[in-house]
Amino acid sequence: MLRKTIKEPVTLEGIGLHKGSPSRVTFLPAGAASGLRFISPLFTAPIPARLENVTGTARGTNIGDGKTVIYTVEHLLSAAAGLGIDDLDIEISGCEPPAMDGSALPFANALLRAGLAEKPGTSRSRARLTAPVEFSKDATRYRAAPSACGASFRLVYDYPHRLVGRQEVEFCLSPEVYLREIAPARTFAFSHEIKALKAAGLALGGSLENAVVINENEITALNGLRFADEFARHKLLDLIGDLALTGLLFEELSIETERPGHAGNINFAKLLTAHSALRDERHKP
Ligand SMILES: [Zn+2]
Repeated sequence: MLRKTIKEPVTLEGIGLHKGSPSRVTFLPAGAASGLRFISPLFTAPIPARLENVTGTARGTNIGDGKTVIYTVEHLLSAAAGLGIDDLDIEISGCEPPAMDGSALPFANALLRAGLAEKPGTSRSRARLTAPVEFSKDATRYRAAPSACGASFRLVYDYPHRLVGRQEVEFCLSPEVYLREIAPARTFAFSHEIKALKAAGLALGGSLENAVVINENEITALNGLRFADEFARHKLLDLIGDLALTGLLFEELSIETERPGHAGNINFAKLLTAHSALRDERHKP
């Protein structure tokens, strides 16, 4: 399968979810097999969206180069990965992509407007396993196994709140399924934690324009929930964004997780990368 980029530049503007600062991102076609990377005249060099550059996982995934940190990259990366884009330069004006509506759909729609282009003479790197890989910490669990029928994801989100409870989603991933079933799911927060988040310098740009808020007795969502299980779908959107940091394609894996979070996603992604490399090493002629 050929690597993909976009045909034309496309720009989005808004404010960042956690830092609340105005931000503009421009997606640019990438000629080389350089993966997904952030560029800015303010950076000394491009910052690849790779696992080794992750600098934080508190309520979002941050990447950096030791001098600069870019916050909350997962929704934007999820859109690129969900559409099967391998190489993309992301010019960013601030320290965080714009939150847009709290989902990945505005990013995905912008990328589709720019048009997808295959790159002749290139090939995509796949995650491959010879045996299942598991990771668990506290109540969080992950499992990946070889799959003969394309990328499949099963996710359980479980929170002890009477308006949330247990939500379970399962999809065979394709760009069409991603766009329709996963990309529109918005980020969310519990009203009881918002004060503490803001005190910690997070959710400063959060509002009902870009997040669903779960109160004690009601869920506040602009135009209502988009899916009855929107929270589990958003967790899957986040996982796809975090797994994009591997630079690998997950077409040959079936992935299951219960109660995932960004820290667990990154640890799991590292484990998958290591096992995939080990398998390739063993299968060298
Ligand atoms: Zn998210």
